[in-house]
Amino acid sequence: MKCIVETCSGEYEDRDIEHSMEVKGELVVIDNVPALVCPVCGNVLMAEETVAALSRIVAEVEAGKQ
Ligand SMILES: [Zn+2]
Repeated sequence: MKCIVETCSGEYEDRDIEHSMEVKGELVVIDNVPALVCPVCGNVLMAEETVAALSRIVAEVEAGKQ
C-alpha cells in the first residue's frame, strides 16, 4: 500500500514496532505492536483494533495510578 504522505513515494511494510506514549506524564513503551511503516518517511499506520488495544492499555495504566 502506498504511503499516505503526499510528497512521499514509499510503500508501507508490515512491521512489529515499539510504540511509546505518554500516560499521565510517564512514558509507557509497548513492544511488538503490529503496524504498517513507510521505510522512506517513517510514517506509521495502525489498524483500528490495534489503536483500540493500545487505548485499553492506556486506560489500565491510568487506572493503576492514583
Ligand atoms: Zn512515506
